[in-house]
Amino acid sequence: MVQADLSIDRITRSHRNRFTSVRLDRLVEYRENPEWVAAAQNSDAARFVPLWHSRSLLAVSDEGQVAIYLKPGELNHLDAIQPPTLLGTDGKRYFFAVSINDSQREEVLARHPEAQFIDLRRATMDMDAKHAGVLAYAKALHYWQHRHIFCGVCGSPNRLQSSGHKLVCINEECARQTFPRIDPAIIVLITHGNACLLGRNAHWPPKHFSTLAGFVEPGESLEDAVVREVYEEAQVRLSKLRYVSSQPWPFPASSMCGFYAEADSRDCAVGDELEELRWYTVDELNAAVMEDSLRLSPPVSIAFRLLADWYHKQCGKDLEQLVRKARGLKRR
Ligand SMILES: [Zn+2]
Repeated sequence: MVQADLSIDRITRSHRNRFTSVRLDRLVEYRENPEWVAAAQNSDAARFVPLWHSRSLLAVSDEGQVAIYLKPGELNHLDAIQPPTLLGTDGKRYFFAVSINDSQREEVLARHPEAQFIDLRRATMDMDAKHAGVLAYAKALHYWQHRHIFCGVCGSPNRLQSSGHKLVCINEECARQTFPRIDPAIIVLITHGNACLLGRNAHWPPKHFSTLAGFVEPGESLEDAVVREVYEEAQVRLSKLRYVSSQPWPFPASSMCGFYAEADSRDCAVGDELEELRWYTVDELNAAVMEDSLRLSPPVSIAFRLLADWYHKQCGKDLEQLVRKARGLKRR
């Protein structure tokens, strides 16, 4: 059955996804109040989330990865064209995202020798959930700001407003406003009886299989996108589908909408995007992970969560423990 763990409500389930635990008051009511924002930015409670080429600053140790926030005074020349973006407050600190240039990067790394600028996608589950969420939020805005430098209508430069949450064309006759953009995508675990379907994209690392996923097209509902993508990628017809939870996925700008779906049968065939499809029962999944013929998406992904919840429902066990055990064996 597709009925996965229903013992928790949807909000709780969604909060278990990586990058959802931001828990900041976004202070929307202050975004248009430059005096208030300037005072917050100059206060001792200000913390800056530095982004260099879309990479986040993390201290790396044996215990995992820790987000590094810069204090006021640590950055001398804040960017006048891309001023700090107000993210929000956790009740103790005001968080701002800030873009830094190459020379600022050198200064920051000299002051924080334990830290590196890392692609957040490579951050592990060991990283504190709240801070992973703050970094993902900052990264998403940074990416949008840097890819909408010019107005899409008249080509004039855009200027940041609303404390970083709006871009406005400087050409007064145009004055087009642009807001942060998110690309919705669906991701779906297909099941039939006691098995689930995983696919392999030819561009992925060897042995990597995952749930099926794809972007939602204009003029299409999320549900229609699931039905279309599954047929395009696997030639599978679905009898039931159910929304599960979502995940911000700023790599670069997606919002992943997770579903479970039940297939009519186990008949399937690869389309243009995939090179292989496989059905796995729990026993087959256990064996494949342990013998290292199957590698799953990282636990930070909703792909892993969808599969792990299905796995837990089937056998009462924790998929992450299985993966860790298999990795331990591999290292020996
Ligand atoms: Zn314009």
